[in-house]
Amino acid sequence: MPYIRIDSERCKGCELCVTMCPRQCIEIGKKINGQGYYFANFVKPDACTGCAICGETCPDVAIEVWR
Ligand code: SF4
Ligand code: SF4
Repeated sequence: MPYIRIDSERCKGCELCVTMCPRQCIEIGKKINGQGYYFANFVKPDACTGCAICGETCPDVAIEVWR
């Protein structure tokens, strides 16, 4: 089953991955990381296709994708 892991400490909450995911699998959460940013969360694992668009989009290389 496809899966992604978001490194919450690398994430700057830019929302690019949220916008780009075609399955709306990622949302910005309500918690703040060590850098002071609201970070992205993988909220719909069942909908993920492993397309890797999120990982290719993230400017901070915070997302790993497994297919
Ligand atoms: S791999 Fe594709 S479907 Fe899965 S979270 Fe990333 S952009 Fe969305
Ligand atoms: S694209 Fe990267 S830095 Fe931006 S919200 Fe997503 S995981 Fe965080």
